[in-house]
Amino acid sequence: MVVTRFAPSPTGYLHIGGLRTALFSYLWAKKNNGKFLLRIEDTDKARNSQEAADKIIEAFEWLGLKSDEEIVFQSQRDDIYKKYIQQLLDEGKAYYCYMTKEELDKLREEQIAKKERPRYDGRYRDFKGTPPEGIEPVVRIKAPLDGVITVEDGIKGHIEFNVKDMLDDFIIARSDGSPTYNFVVAVDDATMGITDVIRGDDHLSNTPKQIVVYNALGFDVPKFYHVPMIHNEQGKKLSKRDGATDVMEYKKMGYLPEALLNFLVRLGWSHGDQEIFSFGEMIELFDPKDINKSASVYNVEKLNWLNGHYIKNTPNEKLEELLKDYDLVLTNSDKKEILLDALKERAKTLKELADLAKDILNRPANYDEKAVKKAYKSGAKDIVANFKEKLLLKNPHLPNEFHDIMQEVVDEMGIGFGKIGQPLRVALLGKLGGPGLDVVMAVIGKDEVVKRIDKALESIE
Ligand code: GLU
Repeated sequence: MVVTRFAPSPTGYLHIGGLRTALFSYLWAKKNNGKFLLRIEDTDKARNSQEAADKIIEAFEWLGLKSDEEIVFQSQRDDIYKKYIQQLLDEGKAYYCYMTKEELDKLREEQIAKKERPRYDGRYRDFKGTPPEGIEPVVRIKAPLDGVITVEDGIKGHIEFNVKDMLDDFIIARSDGSPTYNFVVAVDDATMGITDVIRGDDHLSNTPKQIVVYNALGFDVPKFYHVPMIHNEQGKKLSKRDGATDVMEYKKMGYLPEALLNFLVRLGWSHGDQEIFSFGEMIELFDPKDINKSASVYNVEKLNWLNGHYIKNTPNEKLEELLKDYDLVLTNSDKKEILLDALKERAKTLKELADLAKDILNRPANYDEKAVKKAYKSGAKDIVANFKEKLLLKNPHLPNEFHDIMQEVVDEMGIGFGKIGQPLRVALLGKLGGPGLDVVMAVIGKDEVVKRIDKALESIE
C-alpha cells in the first residue's frame, strides 16, 4: 500500500508551495488506494506555535484534504525517539561524543585553515576510555566513512551523494537529550509506514542523512520524490508579495478550494494540455513521474481564470451560502437567480462577486464625479426623466422587460444606447461599469429604480 504524508513545521502559516506538495502527496496516495497522513513537525519549541498548527489544520479542512489517520504531532513522540536512540547506542551504531563547543570551534578553524571541509573528525567514534567529567554528551550516529549514498528519486532520477563531501557522524541527540531534525523525520516516516515521500527539493540535501538513519535502524528506505520549487515570473523564488502567502488568505480573497487545487496541480505537473481537472480526475490522472524537472511559474491570471470557471459552474444555492463569508446575505428569492446568474459570469473571485452584488443592492451613497461629468452632458437628465415616465406606466419584472423600455426611449428620441445607458447607470449605481442595466433593474425592482432616479435627478447638477 502507498502511504504518503505531509509534514509541515508550524513556524508560520501553510503557504501555497507547501500545499502543492501536500496535494501531490494526497493525490498519489488516493490514486493507489493508499493513505495520506498529516504530521505536524512541532519539535522546535522556540519557533513553533499552537496557533500556527491550528491554522494549518484549518487550511486542510477548508481544502478537504483529510488525513486518513489521526494527525501526528512530533512533540508527543519523545518516547519513541528516545527508544530508537537507545537502540542505536546499545547496538554500537551511535555513540556519546564529549567534545566541548570550544573544541569543536578549534577543530573547525584548523580545518578551514587547511582548506578542508569543516566536519566532525570522529574522535569519539571508537572511544573506550573514561569520559571527561562535567560534560553532557551529544549522541552521534556512525555514518559511513566513504563511498556513495544513492537515491533513485522519482522526479530527479539517479542521484549520488559522495559521503566524503557531505557527511560526518552527525548529531542525533543534543546534550539535553532532544533528538535532531533528520533523525526524527526518518524515525517518523519509518514508524508511520510512509512508503513515498513527496516533498520540496529544498529537502534533497537532508536525504542522505535520513538514509543513514534508516539503514542504522534497519528500516526500509522509502521512495523519494523531490519536487522543484515554484518561481515567480521573474524566475526567482516565490515570495510573499508574489502570492506565497497563507493559504487562508486565498480564502479571504475569494478563491474556491477547487480552483486553488486545480491551479496548484498544474504548477509543475501536466497531463497533455488539459487545464481543468475535477478532483476525481486529478486522482485518476496524477502520476509523479509527470512532474517537471525544472521549476514552475506562478501566474495569478491563470488562477483567476480558473476561479472564474469554478464560480460560473457553482450552483446558485451553494454560491449564496459561500457569499455569506463575504458579508453578502441575499433575501428575495426571485431576484437571487437573476443576480447570481449575471454576476457569476463576470466575477473572478467570490469577493468580487459579493462587491458587485452590494453595488447593486445598496443605493449609491454618492455619485462618482468623473462618471457624472462623462454621463450627464446636456439633455441627459431629460432622457432619464423620459425613461422614468415610461417606466411608471408599466409593470416590468424581467430584465428584457426593462430593456424594452430603454429601447422605447432610444427609438423615440433617436439616440444611441449609450446616451441613456450612461446617465441611468450613474443614477442607479453611482458609477460607470458593472453588469447589464436590465439585470440591475430587474434585481432592485421598479420602485427602487424610480427612487434612485428621483434622487439622482435631484442631486446631480
Ligand atoms: N517539516 C518540513 C518543512 O516544513 C518538511 C519535512 C519533510 O517533508 O521531510 O519543510
